Amino acid sequence: MTAPSLFVSHGAPTYAIEPGLAGEQLHALGLALGKPRGIVVVSPHWMTRGVAVTASARPPTIHDFGGFPDALYSLQYPAPGDGALAARAAQLLQGLGLPVRLDDTRGLDHGAWVPLLHMYPDADVPVVQVSLPHDSTPATAFALGQALAPLAHEGVLVIGSGSLTHNLYEFRGGDVAAADYAVEFTHWIRAAVRRGDTAALLHALRDAPHARRAHPTSDHYLPLLVAAGAAAQATPATVLDGGIRHGMLAMESYLFGQVH
Ligand code: ZN
Repeated sequence: MTAPSLFVSHGAPTYAIEPGLAGEQLHALGLALGKPRGIVVVSPHWMTRGVAVTASARPPTIHDFGGFPDALYSLQYPAPGDGALAARAAQLLQGLGLPVRLDDTRGLDHGAWVPLLHMYPDADVPVVQVSLPHDSTPATAFALGQALAPLAHEGVLVIGSGSLTHNLYEFRGGDVAAADYAVEFTHWIRAAVRRGDTAALLHALRDAPHARRAHPTSDHYLPLLVAAGAAAQATPATVLDGGIRHGMLAMESYLFGQVH
């Protein structure tokens, strides 16, 4: 079985209890894909020197956010870990030329577990999280995805979890209209993804309209490159347009590869 790879926008932590359109789409996608043998997920909420891989048999749910409703802090995503998958991922990552380490205690951050809560609500697929090296660039994030690409042939779903737009300085509560720049940036990326245009994605933070406003820092964009790198080749992707929340958080996700 060849599993596709996936980029998901993990939104704000409240997405865990307010699934909305994007949550429904991820739930439907989980049903369509079926359950993979395992999941390897990369999120910007775990950045390290070198690269680290969770190796705990029971990775705890990390509530790595403050000032949100109490209900969010009692949520658990008790997916098992998978020591063999962690070791395999670490082996593949050796090729990057970075120090690679297994972490026996680290759990899953909200960038990992919030989307999975919608996609696989039973938490019965083993999950291994891979850190994002703190000095990542679009090119090295793509290389990290490429290093993990063989996992697709082993029935493992590789997920890059970020946010297609992510300017928290402009965060607004409630239902507000999407900012024009966020829409324009999202449409530019969406078109590149549909063309399978890896070069455009690699240079988007330089070339795409309003890129600096959409991503004052690159960390939430880089997981898209991880997912694109993990795809077998420059594969045009399926678009899940989850809309834009809080005026500026695009909830767009992309599936690279086929649903079998
Ligand atoms: Zn985030």
